[in-house]
Amino acid sequence: MELAAQGVVPLGGGTRLLASAREVPNLLDLVGLGLSTVQVEDEDLVIGATTTLQDLVESPLVYPATAGLLPLACRTAAASRTIRGMATLAGEAVQGDPDGEVAAALLVLNAVFVVAHPQEPRESPALRFLRDPSADLEGGGVVQTVMIPGAPHGAALERAAALPSLPPLMSVAVTTTFSGERLSRVRLAVTGLEGRPARIIEAEAHVERTAGDDEVLREAAECVAREGRFREDARASADQRRKLATVLTLRALRSAVERGKRREPAQVPRLRSPTSRRAAAPLPYFTSGRLELKVNGRKLRAEAEARTTLLDLLRGTGIFGAKSGCGAGRCGACTVLLDGRPVASCMTLAVRAQGQTVLTIEGLGTSERPHLLQKVFADAGAVQCGFCTPALVLGARALLDAVPDPTEEEVREALTGLCRCTGYAKPTAAVIEAASRRGR
Ligand SMILES: Cc1cc2nc3c(=O)[nH]c(=O)nc-3n(C[C@H](O)[C@H](O)[C@H](O)COP(=O)(O)OP(=O)(O)OC[C@H]3O[C@@H](n4cnc5c(N)ncnc54)[C@H](O)[C@@H]3O)c2cc1C
Repeated sequence: MELAAQGVVPLGGGTRLLASAREVPNLLDLVGLGLSTVQVEDEDLVIGATTTLQDLVESPLVYPATAGLLPLACRTAAASRTIRGMATLAGEAVQGDPDGEVAAALLVLNAVFVVAHPQEPRESPALRFLRDPSADLEGGGVVQTVMIPGAPHGAALERAAALPSLPPLMSVAVTTTFSGERLSRVRLAVTGLEGRPARIIEAEAHVERTAGDDEVLREAAECVAREGRFREDARASADQRRKLATVLTLRALRSAVERGKRREPAQVPRLRSPTSRRAAAPLPYFTSGRLELKVNGRKLRAEAEARTTLLDLLRGTGIFGAKSGCGAGRCGACTVLLDGRPVASCMTLAVRAQGQTVLTIEGLGTSERPHLLQKVFADAGAVQCGFCTPALVLGARALLDAVPDPTEEEVREALTGLCRCTGYAKPTAAVIEAASRRGR
């Protein structure tokens, strides 16, 4: 906190901070602080600030405690499994996309941000914190945990986007809680507004204390369209967003009410995936110096600056299998396995690999003795232009290590975001073939 008060910038997953051109003089890595935990305390769900979005998707506690909404929002907000395995809940809340579904979900779940502060700890409801996180963090605040009180009975998330992987033009999150036959509490938040996502309190009040009949839900949807200050930009006009709002709100309200009546959580695909747990080793104070890690089974000692990325470290020592593409985590071509976990090495500080193991494509096989995955990729014609192939093969390797018999959906999920050029059909077929050959 003292360091944060001096202007040192907290670093979560780095997927925003290290991908942006923003100049930051000093970084304070939060990863060793033991804040990647999810617990239930007195019926509240307590989520540590550095818990990743993928941890939230996978956690058996989060699903029932949020009627399925938070895992669904995390999965929807970041399509790439690799990015979800790096991005943290606090990082997303502090600097997530202005149209982010996670913020909308936190609003309707009545989340409370617990901020450690040099003066005194603060508890800030999502309604206040998400409006302007810098106000609560000013003077050295660091998000410590996010608390979600008591689970709602029903929840729904609806979105409209030009492509599933693109940020939504607008989205609507709803939670419902019943007392007998009537709705005792309704929370409704929308994105696509002029500012950050916000609750539409007038629409909530319209539905509360009713039985949630269709006529009431229709009027609430019209209320959202009337009250929301929708954004006008190159992707959609305010009027288009307003029309979308009417349709999406009605859909979200109907399903949150129906699910609430049946006490049935929102549906989230339950996919098995490579481990996302990061090694929570405390990092040394580091401006520059010597790092020691294991790369492809061999000890590597190298000099690095505090800002050296793992990608630069690897390429600087002649390991070129990790490709330098966009430098912002978007293309996936720099993916390597850090302690078995796929990470975008362009957004991972080299110091985070201190004492850890790194696997690049060079550690898999050689031209003479290719790894099974390399062989099936070649046989299936799944290599395409070749630039992303190391990332695809490593993503597949991480999956097969954890899930030897993946379904097609699990393979597609593991490969998402690792190639930006073309279809995933052949790489997917290749991975399924590798799994079946390994099983024989
Ligand atoms: C390819 C790609 C796709 C993306 N897609 C999406 C998307 O679809 N939707 C979306 O919303 N975002 C998206 N992002 C942006 C980014 O992933 C999110 O904003 C992300 O959740 C940030 O989390 P992080 O832990 O990596 O944050 P960091 O980059 O580590 O930090 C972000 C900000 O939060 C602050 N911060 C972090 N932790 C704390 C803390 N505990 N206390 C106080 N301040 C803290 C940092 O100082 C920094 O200002 C994408 C990024 C990439 C690279």
